[in-house]
Amino acid sequence: MAKKPAAPETRPFEAEVGRLLKIVANSLYSDREIFLRELLSNASDACDRLRYAALTDAGLLADDPDLRVTVTIDKQAKTVTVTDNGIGMSHDELVSELGTIARSGTSAFMDQLEGGDSDIGLIGQFGVGFYSTFMVADRVAVVSRKAGEKQAWGWESDGEGSYSIAPVEDAGVRGTAITLHTRKDAKEFLETQRLRHIIKTYSDHIALPIVLRGGEADAEAEIVNTAQALWTRPRKDITPKQYTEFYHHSGHLFDEPWLTIHNRVEGKIEYTNLLYIPSAKPFDLFQPDRKTHIKLY
Ligand code: ADP
Ligand code: MG
Repeated sequence: MAKKPAAPETRPFEAEVGRLLKIVANSLYSDREIFLRELLSNASDACDRLRYAALTDAGLLADDPDLRVTVTIDKQAKTVTVTDNGIGMSHDELVSELGTIARSGTSAFMDQLEGGDSDIGLIGQFGVGFYSTFMVADRVAVVSRKAGEKQAWGWESDGEGSYSIAPVEDAGVRGTAITLHTRKDAKEFLETQRLRHIIKTYSDHIALPIVLRGGEADAEAEIVNTAQALWTRPRKDITPKQYTEFYHHSGHLFDEPWLTIHNRVEGKIEYTNLLYIPSAKPFDLFQPDRKTHIKLY
């Protein structure tokens, strides 16, 4: 017997998320393009996490092995969609990751924002970068299928206090698609040129191909970034700006690194290391829920 599709379930955001969304939606912040930096960062994290999980369970990657991120503009629908074929989110993860604030420190950040002492651009540092999408979108729809699971789930919100979640049939491949229904005042983000430039700025060091499908009828998909891990490139080919950009991306930090060490060791064992020492102490340096540590690839 065919199962009746479950009706969408509506849930309120945790109070702190509601508060953050109000600040984000009403901000007159001029660097709204950072929403894309945050989505690309999440998409590339999701691909890294899948790659890591596949070390012990190769089947997770097998059906769709070429990890990539695609940004699609639909001018008619006035949407921008960021799709990845990374780890995906289960029903419970959508609820916990996109409905609550997991990290300490975020509340202090919001106090500062409300007092005008802080910059929304720092949002990624506080583990709530996803919500920056509401600077440019009045509705955000997420469809995700977790690697290894059959059921896909849809999450949707207008950022006004609640979100809905429902099973999605025929979602296709593994991973996550995040669709932003752009606000009237955010038309600029439907321009292919503009998005190409933003992607280039924030993703050149991301080791996955970032594909852009432009909004024009004859637009062809193009890979926008260099798609080569920064540390695998020779030192002499890397500019200080690229080193700093990568530091910001991988550390979720926004200061200038005090020291950058990059070297390759060759011999019986070969490895490359790229280490940064921050110039400012990360606010959560000694907090156990800190997410950015030394990473191994
Ligand atoms: P952070 O990336 O610092 O954790 P975000 O607000 O950007 O904070 O994202 C919150 C969480 O939502 C992520 O930690 C991740 O678990 C989940 N998430 C967001 N985007 C994706 C995605 N594309 N694929 C899988 N999980 C995601
Ligand atoms: Mg993030």
